Amino acid sequence: MSLRDKTMDVEERYLARAFQRFPIVAVRGKGALLWDVDGKSYVDCMGGYGVALVGHCHPDVVEAVKEQVERLISCHYSLYNDARARALETLEKIAPKGLSRVFLSNSGAESVECALKLALRYTGRKDIVAMTGSFHGKTLGALSVTYNKKYRLPFEHALYQRVKFAKYGDPEDAIKLITDETAAVIVEPIQGESGIRVPPEDFLVKLREATSKSGCLLIADEVQSGLGRTGKMWACEHWEIVPDILCVAKGMAGGIPIGATFATDEVMGSLKTGEHSSTFGGNPIACAAADATINVILKESLVERAAEMGAYFKDRLTSLHGSHRILREVRGKGLMLAAEMRVEIYEVLMELIRRGVVPLYSGKNILRLLPPLVIEKEQVDLVIESLDAALAEEELRVAEAGRGISDKVP
Ligand SMILES: *Cc1c(COP(=O)(O)O)cnc(C)c1O
Repeated sequence: MSLRDKTMDVEERYLARAFQRFPIVAVRGKGALLWDVDGKSYVDCMGGYGVALVGHCHPDVVEAVKEQVERLISCHYSLYNDARARALETLEKIAPKGLSRVFLSNSGAESVECALKLALRYTGRKDIVAMTGSFHGKTLGALSVTYNKKYRLPFEHALYQRVKFAKYGDPEDAIKLITDETAAVIVEPIQGESGIRVPPEDFLVKLREATSKSGCLLIADEVQSGLGRTGKMWACEHWEIVPDILCVAKGMAGGIPIGATFATDEVMGSLKTGEHSSTFGGNPIACAAADATINVILKESLVERAAEMGAYFKDRLTSLHGSHRILREVRGKGLMLAAEMRVEIYEVLMELIRRGVVPLYSGKNILRLLPPLVIEKEQVDLVIESLDAALAEEELRVAEAGRGISDKVP
């Protein structure tokens, strides 16, 4: 049996069947490229769901992790550590104004758990307002503020009950739900999981005003949109607002697991000793990797690069409208992009893989693109050529099957 078949076979046999999977056995990565076990290369537009922000195996991150691994691997929060202090100083440089305290954890969901506990603790109130289409993770707390029925329903009986969902993009709907029992409004400045939704111009500004007025906290979940992804360090900057609590994770440590919850000194101060903790949170490896990753983002001007390369990518995607009727809409900011189709895209995804592109999707008909910010122009071109061909083939299939293309969401 080939190594490819054996690897897939073993994983299929033993791993929890909790994921939709693609038939790629990845063994190596560099920049925006991944290689499979047979040596075939792919442009990685999945980027580990946005984790490969500075590219796979960035040499500075590799170096920092190697150096740290040889000195000290674990060091609990209870002790002080030099790598952690360095990471904190670097984080301070990029943290939104006023959010000077950070709780370090290991994932996006954990960063959200901490944010929710902080808001409930600080305000002493019980209600949370979240958004339709939201995604904040799948632990019980984070799942309670996640909208998707497919994720929620099996656990509805165990979720935090005092959550109301406002229509994403409609500030008046959220304002109607805010009462003097509301602890926080939690929002993704740009929604990722539900298919890259950019809200109307006044949405976040009005949410900021309304939350300040009511004395509840505004939690921005920038686990996917943060750290330069959208062409600004924080997506909130597109609307010039600063939240009370900011959630960060995914690409923050170059691929090493990490989560961070930023808050003001006052809000973070509401958590007393022992009220929240994490054994691995703030560990030296993740901190060394985060320090290196953020320095790479700054040194290589990856925020500006995401804006420029994102504009180019979006332009080229938009140009496919002319030749493909199944393409419904292209949207997003920076390198957080989506192309929504008028048909289901399973075959399109498979064709992209055959042509050397690792795709990402949302639902059944949305191609999502979260490539590393270091992706090169030629690599974007290859993705566009592959997509152009994959869409043409899909249109042939649609025509042959006499399915027709309607504007109904598939
Ligand atoms: C991915 C994601 C999460 C959850 O992160 P995990 O590390 O998978 O727990 C939370 N919020 C947003 C916006 C995300 O994109």
